[in-house]
Amino acid sequence: MNVYRTNAATPTLIDTHCHLDMPHFDEDRDAVVARAKEAGVAAMVTIGIDLAHSRAAIALAEQYDEVFATVGVHPNDCADFGPDTLAELRKLAGHLKVVGIGEIGLDYYWDRTTPEQQKRAFREQLALAAELGLPVVIHNREAHEDIRAELRAWARDVLPGSKLARRPFAGVLHSFSGDLEMAQEAYEWGFVLGVAGPVTFKNARRLHALVPQLDRERLIIETDAPFLSPHPFRGKRNEPARVALVAEKLAELWGMSVDETAARTTATARRLYGLEKG
Ligand SMILES: [Zn+2]
Repeated sequence: MNVYRTNAATPTLIDTHCHLDMPHFDEDRDAVVARAKEAGVAAMVTIGIDLAHSRAAIALAEQYDEVFATVGVHPNDCADFGPDTLAELRKLAGHLKVVGIGEIGLDYYWDRTTPEQQKRAFREQLALAAELGLPVVIHNREAHEDIRAELRAWARDVLPGSKLARRPFAGVLHSFSGDLEMAQEAYEWGFVLGVAGPVTFKNARRLHALVPQLDRERLIIETDAPFLSPHPFRGKRNEPARVALVAEKLAELWGMSVDETAARTTATARRLYGLEKG
């Protein structure tokens, strides 16, 4: 298995979720982007987690042709989310290379912010995304039931008739950790699911059983780099080139060629984020 293939048969991949602006990449960011391109990664979407990181994500999108950005405030960073934050996000979201709002959501693993603070910031950013017609990137950690309740209400009350409702998909549940029932409900809201490095872990039996049952037109792949490095790099710094390892594991679970798996996940990612062919 050679991840860094450079021959013409290299499948075209998209890393739909990474954090390229993080300091983990300060020493060698150019090389990281170059290795991703060599591995067939045609586009990388670098995700905002607060205003500063969202601005940094946009700066990288301006610097590298293959990099696109999302802007948003993560649930763990929403303590002082207010009208000024929302106004600034609205401004940043107008940039040509901003392709989504995120990552936003709920995280009950950490307690730097209360569930009430998290829900308020989540709802306001969901409403902004619907208004601007930008898909949402959803972070969910140990908050399955509340995420479902929030997205169900948004899909019922806010999304219909909005600019976002005219797009192929409303958003992505990133690094999906729910069950089949949650996946099916997410399809009803117009969502796709993101699969990341943990699918390659030998002990990920639940994911290995779930993935073959997921809709093959509704799945995209991601690294969440610098986090969630796939096998055999578990625990090391992750990087977008390794989305190829996620594609290979997915192909194995689907009983499909890597090329076909790449083609399907790439097509879905392009439709989600509105990325041009290239
Ligand atoms: Zn992330």
